[in-house]
Amino acid sequence: MTSRQPIVAILGHVDHGKTTLLDYIRTTKVAQGESGGITQSIGAYQAKYQDKLLTFIDTPGHAAFSKMRSRGVGVADIVVLVVAGDDSVQPQTIESIKHIKSASVPYVIAINKTDKPDANVEVVKAALTQHEVFVEGYGGNTPFVLISGKTGEGVDKLLETILLLAELEELPYSPDSQLMAPVIEAKIDSRKGALVSAIVKSGTLHIGDMICTETATAKVRALFNDLGVNIIKATPGIPVQILGFQTLPLVGEVIVPGSLVVSSTINHQPSTILVDPLDKHLNIILKADNSGSLEAIKESFAPEVKCITSDTGQISESDVLHARATDSIILGFNTKVGSSVLRLAQAEGVTIKSYKIIYELLEYIEKKVLKLMEPTIDEDELGSATVIKVFEINSDHIAGTHIDTGVMEVGDTIHLVRGDVSKNAKIRNIRIGKEEVKKVEADKECGIFLSPNLDVHEKDVIIAYKKKLDDI
Ligand code: GDP
Repeated sequence: MTSRQPIVAILGHVDHGKTTLLDYIRTTKVAQGESGGITQSIGAYQAKYQDKLLTFIDTPGHAAFSKMRSRGVGVADIVVLVVAGDDSVQPQTIESIKHIKSASVPYVIAINKTDKPDANVEVVKAALTQHEVFVEGYGGNTPFVLISGKTGEGVDKLLETILLLAELEELPYSPDSQLMAPVIEAKIDSRKGALVSAIVKSGTLHIGDMICTETATAKVRALFNDLGVNIIKATPGIPVQILGFQTLPLVGEVIVPGSLVVSSTINHQPSTILVDPLDKHLNIILKADNSGSLEAIKESFAPEVKCITSDTGQISESDVLHARATDSIILGFNTKVGSSVLRLAQAEGVTIKSYKIIYELLEYIEKKVLKLMEPTIDEDELGSATVIKVFEINSDHIAGTHIDTGVMEVGDTIHLVRGDVSKNAKIRNIRIGKEEVKKVEADKECGIFLSPNLDVHEKDVIIAYKKKLDDI
């Protein structure tokens, strides 16, 4: 096998027939395995047409599709844009066209509901030209197929067209490359725990693998295919449900091999997941009024900007908590922030910035990126200390420390400096003798516990700091 089965997403306006089409294909073209399982809802399924496999994403809606574009990796290889023949081009059709164009994915127009007497194909084709989609006969060669998801008319032709587009794309089948599998669904099941669905785009996912996304980590305990059958590995093109995540990743994040730094949990506090503290990135959680704006903004970001998540809708409390866990700034574009969210942000020390003008938003980001290059400029030193001895208790490193200047407090963010290397962490706990204290002043000695549990050495310097509260 040299080429991978295509991954197909169906987009279009609400009620134009996406679900009906997906159901029709699922029930008539499902690729039955020998094991004879029953199709399960894992966010995607495989269909077979003329002995060729296709993977259909059946997570409905655009929000999911736009979330699926992370780190410039689109999950779908090919998009079917469904337009109802009796309703023509509508707002979500236009939004879908924007997505398709910004992702430069090949696509086919499926003019649906052609069984209805009031379906008017010519009206649809003409309306599409307004949005620079030119089908044959209207000055272009964008493929289109007339279908009825209800009767199944034209669906074979549609599948044929998809396979043709896939052939032109030359999708390589690369089971030996590094694993890359975008997450398409993530939910909690009361019995099984975190259930995460992904589609393997390259590499192979095995039971027992250590895998991670930007925000979550797993040791794969079990894998299920779209027929609910236990499998031991998933090769490129295969949709798979994964058991073993400790926390839920976000839809659109990409699963790769490896694991994240997870702070150990003393006092059984929930663990904080840190994005690599050493890389010079500006972490952003982006919210906007619609997916068109999201795409436009993301496309303009400098490479130093790491979009942890981007989503439409209001800024929520969970965005704030996610921002704190990933050390991100929340950026809102034409979106509301409730007062309870603002209060939480203040309490958690999370920055929220809202803009109504894209240019101003980008200008802010540009300034922040420039500041990244001068890391100490926006910091006020609160205290500094020298590690005099390191103790190990239950694999925790405890820094026996002499406070040289200022004050150190539980919760402070710190740099752990050794020669030219500096790592970031927080003070989780301070002890003087056996007694836990909240803070400690200059000239005192104490034991400092860091989170994450960094590997401290004697003579390391700990600098507690706070970010300057200026406007940028
Ligand atoms: P979605 O919101 O795009 O997923 O749309 P649905 O698949 O839920 O379809 C919306 C409505 O249109 C439902 O009542 C379907 O039965 C109907 N419908 C979908 N496809 C067709 C079709 O090809 N012909 C006709 N007559 N009705 C359809």
